[in-house]
Amino acid sequence: MEFEEGDRVRVSKSGVEYEGIVMPSTTGHIVIKMNSGYNAGITPQGATVTLLQKKEDIASSGKEAAKPEITARTGLPKVSILSTGGTIASKIDYRTGAVTSQFSADDILQAIPELTEIANFSGRAIYNILSENMKASYWQELSKAVVEEIHKGADGIIIAHGTDTMMYSAAALSFMIDTPVPIVFVGSQRSADRPSSDNAMNAICAAKVAVSDIAEVSVVMHNDSSDDICAIHRATRVRKMHTSRRDAFRSVNSEPIGYVDYATGEICTSLPYIRRNERILTLKSSLVPKCALVKFTPGASPDILGWFIDAGYKGIVIEGTGLGHVSTDWIPQIERATSHRIPVMITSQCLNGRVCDRVYDTGRDILKAGAIEGEDMLPEVGLVKMMWALGQTDDYGTALDMLKQDIRCEINKRSLE
Ligand code: ASP
Repeated sequence: MEFEEGDRVRVSKSGVEYEGIVMPSTTGHIVIKMNSGYNAGITPQGATVTLLQKKEDIASSGKEAAKPEITARTGLPKVSILSTGGTIASKIDYRTGAVTSQFSADDILQAIPELTEIANFSGRAIYNILSENMKASYWQELSKAVVEEIHKGADGIIIAHGTDTMMYSAAALSFMIDTPVPIVFVGSQRSADRPSSDNAMNAICAAKVAVSDIAEVSVVMHNDSSDDICAIHRATRVRKMHTSRRDAFRSVNSEPIGYVDYATGEICTSLPYIRRNERILTLKSSLVPKCALVKFTPGASPDILGWFIDAGYKGIVIEGTGLGHVSTDWIPQIERATSHRIPVMITSQCLNGRVCDRVYDTGRDILKAGAIEGEDMLPEVGLVKMMWALGQTDDYGTALDMLKQDIRCEINKRSLE
């Protein structure tokens, strides 16, 4: 049987049938991507292959199905969907077998027509990258695009984004923009061409939040493994906690702001939040990207910290152990950093709970060396906040005050149990 990469085939061997798309193989096996999204490698000896669909036909049927007419409806709010890439904007590239970003914002709308019942959308592709390739300058461009859309009259913004670094981008935009409308980050863990894809449900829930009263930067993703509820996480409180589960995102040291019921579209909130039009649109997008997040590990050399100081880093966040510790031999380097007016903030690898450097000797010495406590802030939020605070002021003392202050609910005054 003649078949090539990208064709849909059925392979029968020893009474078992595998159906899927032929993937590249370097081992001589027939490798197919099954509907579940998993790959199967089958030795060709004794296998029967039936061609089900040629790759050209798969491509053209996909295109035809993805072009329903989208017309604006009167009376619906306006939402801008800005696409940056990631799995939500991806499908499998059958030449390589990899998941790659291939959809624009318009394609997302075409693929999920239910969205058009919630709002009138305009789509704009800002990037088409996997979010591991995000960087601070991209957050700045993205924040400018969001503000432009709000100026143009958007009642809400959806940002389609890769899940890997979504929490960094969301935290960055949260610090940079005083927003009068909802700004909702959404992604998916499984691409649209997998039956278990979470992209449509996440996007529909995100659209509900984008037209809601929650005028904050949030991340809307599956709350559990079934298709019933999405959680609305506050941008500065959320973390991707699982590599592959659809409910990978969790709020840390906080409840989510609320939940969206997928079936009814109803939103119930569990925390106070900033309401629509409470804030005047302002953009403070200056950042100092040359900041580092350094993880302390047992026995790690203090030279690590020294390297960042000598390399001209402007701010350092340390992910310490437990209540916020590093070994005693790191303390002189902390002191060297702060004496050069490089802010040093201590956060915890525990993630849950609050840093307290007043309990043990090492903690007290860390504070004496000039470090500040990151309270119950996530380390990556500490990093983004460091970049942002240093972008707002040249004054060391003012930067320290900003870092200690709760700006976007990234610090709870008292910790939850
Ligand atoms: N690596 C991808 C990204 O973050 C994964 C995803 O989108 O879920 O862009």
